[in-house]
Amino acid sequence: MLLTITTTHRPAADLSYLLHKHPGRFQTYELSFGKAHAFYPEASAERCTACLLLDVDPVGVVRGRGAGEGLLDQYVNDRPYVASSFLSVAISQVLGTALQGRCNDRPELARTPIPLEARLDVLPVRGGEPFLRALFEPLGYRVEATRHPLDDRFPEWGEGPYYSVTVAGDVTLSALLTHLYVLVPVFDNQKHYFVGDDEIEKLLTKGAGWLANHPAREAITRRYLRSQPSLYRQALARLVEEEEPAEASTNEEEPRRSDQAESILEKPLSLHEQRIGAVLAALRSSGARRVLDLGCGEGKLLRELLKDPEFAEIVGMDVSIRSLENARDRLKLDRLPERQAARIKLLHGSLIYRDRRLEGFDAAAVVEVVEHLDPPRLAAFERVLFAFTRPSTIILTTPNREYNVTWENVGADRLRHPDHRFEWTRAEFHAWAERIAARHGYEVRFLPIGPVDDRLGPPTQMGVFHRD
Ligand code: SAH
Repeated sequence: MLLTITTTHRPAADLSYLLHKHPGRFQTYELSFGKAHAFYPEASAERCTACLLLDVDPVGVVRGRGAGEGLLDQYVNDRPYVASSFLSVAISQVLGTALQGRCNDRPELARTPIPLEARLDVLPVRGGEPFLRALFEPLGYRVEATRHPLDDRFPEWGEGPYYSVTVAGDVTLSALLTHLYVLVPVFDNQKHYFVGDDEIEKLLTKGAGWLANHPAREAITRRYLRSQPSLYRQALARLVEEEEPAEASTNEEEPRRSDQAESILEKPLSLHEQRIGAVLAALRSSGARRVLDLGCGEGKLLRELLKDPEFAEIVGMDVSIRSLENARDRLKLDRLPERQAARIKLLHGSLIYRDRRLEGFDAAAVVEVVEHLDPPRLAAFERVLFAFTRPSTIILTTPNREYNVTWENVGADRLRHPDHRFEWTRAEFHAWAERIAARHGYEVRFLPIGPVDDRLGPPTQMGVFHRD
């Protein structure tokens, strides 16, 4: 497996300073899976080429693996010959200083884009040349690719996923190595090691400054994290947030709340049924058939949705596993007849993370949820719901703080529930909702829920967002 890096920057031999490798030597490094050799086939003033040759030990690679995988696959595989996650490891171990952009001898040069070309002799690209271009070209590279037949002796076997690839552009060496480090395993779509939480950190660190705005960032993230949905969602969420510099701490822990406390507090107010009724009416009048209940809690709205056959597909989502378990029990999901059960699904997830499972629905209800989010998370919530999930109708309810004075057990200075992070006045809610509607192409109407006080308004406020 060979990686070749060439520059025509003058003086070209500066490349050896950037790489921290002596141009006159052939150096060999022992890695856990084999050897890496670094050398320069050419080093003139006009043109300098450095090579990193990986000598992957095919037996060492499979050593330590379980016996479950076929023997043939263990000993006859492409790993020694193709660019893969082994190359990423070699880049970080053999060219680590250059990867980080450090160079004591030429610090300016390390920060300066210079003409660089990288050639990967054999790169498996699952997704073909369009995918190759879709990943490199937005980063400013010119791409040349030649596809190889599976076996030259047997052209009838057809073409395999193997390409010789050259990417060229004016970039810093650190950027080039970083892009290769992240993208090579993404093209290959395999990794030789277990992918765990720390891969998110690696991806976000190496992706800093380019991944968040890359048009293929989702495909890159999904493949980099080996399609593990939980890791993928976490990483994407953090990429979403990277664009919102105001974002601060994470809100991953179970909310400090108890559904019981909320319902006890509200029972004497008998507001809950009115709220469910108002949301149901708004959902029905929108004509929605596929609906989301986001922050569904113990499933009070879901139960009503299930009773109405107009709602053909119903998904409840909540961040609290305990609430979801309660919802499953209350709705007796395990005992529903098959046709009913097929209409409803409960998902564990968080509204501040982009979630593909929520896309393609007609309407979403977000009932008494937004006030449970930390204010710095609202920007992420807004993007997830209005920019990505983007159903035609969004129905959002939240307390009207002005009304609290009418309740002895709450009062003017307190919030209604210990887990509420804030409660909006009517003016605050309207201002927020109108700003967001305008930003994302929705119209919003406001409707009161519960007995309306002349001065203070209703206890619950509802915003119905709609887009064509
Ligand atoms: N909609 C329900 C529950 C309201 S209580 C009803 O009207 O009865 C608020 C709910 O929001 C809780 O179940 C809580 O777990 C959920 N929640 C809080 N933060 C969330 C988040 N980031 N993503 C999804 N749900 C969340």
